[in-house]
Amino acid sequence: MAARRYQDYLNESKLPHMWCPGCGDGTILRAYTEALVELDLAPKDVVTVTGIGCWGKADDYLTTQAFHGTHGRALAFATGIKLANPNLTVVTLMGDGDAVTIGGNHFIHAARRNIDLTAIVANNYNYGMTGGQYSATTPLESKTTTSPNGSPEPGFDICLLAEAAGANYVARTTAYHVVALKNLIKEAISHKGFSLVEVISPCPTYFGRFNGQPSSVNMLNWLKENAVPASKYREMSTEEQAKHFAIGTLVKKDRADFYTTYRRINSVSQTAGGRE
Ligand code: SF4
Repeated sequence: MAARRYQDYLNESKLPHMWCPGCGDGTILRAYTEALVELDLAPKDVVTVTGIGCWGKADDYLTTQAFHGTHGRALAFATGIKLANPNLTVVTLMGDGDAVTIGGNHFIHAARRNIDLTAIVANNYNYGMTGGQYSATTPLESKTTTSPNGSPEPGFDICLLAEAAGANYVARTTAYHVVALKNLIKEAISHKGFSLVEVISPCPTYFGRFNGQPSSVNMLNWLKENAVPASKYREMSTEEQAKHFAIGTLVKKDRADFYTTYRRINSVSQTAGGRE
């Protein structure tokens, strides 16, 4: 059989996609499909789970198995799918609203349980699909449609949250760093346990327009100038760190995942279907 191409993971009958010109979501989708090619995963063995939001529309364009659920609940559905059939590769695609605002509780507990699945979170600092409201990652004093004078709340650091909750693998990159993006997604899917890849992604339609970056080019340049490798970030002063953010692999450990621990404690032996 000929090697798969990234197009083999795309349902071209559903294209063109619905994302705005300059949105980072298309870039992340391309990186995800290229990672699946390089991991040689058949579409039938991968389940892409989404909730609601612009990035949550991605499953429409894929030939993998897919489950499109309710807002903030993608990780709950993904947990059930993975436990029902541990042989599947389960990947959740969520925005910051879906993952850590409406779905914050599920995010914390999926990381704590160390469920063996991958979360690719497109963080554009606002609820794009529903009109640009501020979310749990909107930076302090940033303007959105619901904070026209600036958000009074500080934003979550998604990677620190995942690390503190117990995730086995945590990485951050941006929609500008396309090669690293594909490689980090590959590494995350390959690593057992709960894996997070946070992708800082442009939303020129809402977040950029309200915050002095009206075009995607402005936003990509901002990502290029402010993202620094984690090793360099650690050597920066507190003042310098406040103006930048770290990218790359931030956490990589081997704590036993939920299913392995459950089987050990309950002495359940695994068969091909995951049940005895
Ligand atoms: S509203 Fe923002 S996040 Fe949604 S498709 Fe448009 S640019 Fe992308």
